Amino acid sequence: MSKTSDSATSQPEDCIFCKIVAGDFGSDFVYEDQWVVAFDDISPQAPVHTLIVPREHVANLEDDPSPELLARTFGAVSTVARLKGIDKSGYRIVQNNGAGAGQTVYHLHVHLMGGTNFDEGLR
Ligand code: AMP
Ligand code: ZN
Repeated sequence: MSKTSDSATSQPEDCIFCKIVAGDFGSDFVYEDQWVVAFDDISPQAPVHTLIVPREHVANLEDDPSPELLARTFGAVSTVARLKGIDKSGYRIVQNNGAGAGQTVYHLHVHLMGGTNFDEGLR
């Protein structure tokens, strides 16, 4: 059951990623399966910047995603990295939770970034 008390929690009817998952924008999916879709970020922060998004709407890790949803979402990362050609060169994943982390779309997603050499550490 999703929490609804958080004012930042979007409901599916006004969630842009739910609309993308539903195919409303005709987005090209890099990958899709029963659980997730992956599509390129509209504002890429690296040469490869792809979002991995569960089909089911949950806002973030504080919205009680099921263990299976999490496993399927994070489990798709290496598959998408291979499809994008960055599995061997290396990649970074980022997953934001809440305003303080810079989350802007309140539908759980993993940023997969690569195709460049990131600095050591987190920055
Ligand atoms: P976050 O700040 O973690 O919530 O990340 C949201 C990401 O979604 C940002 O990197 C945006 O560029 C990206 N984004 C927003 N709208 C779209 C869209 N229509 N298609 C693809 N990416 C989007
Ligand atoms: Zn959604």
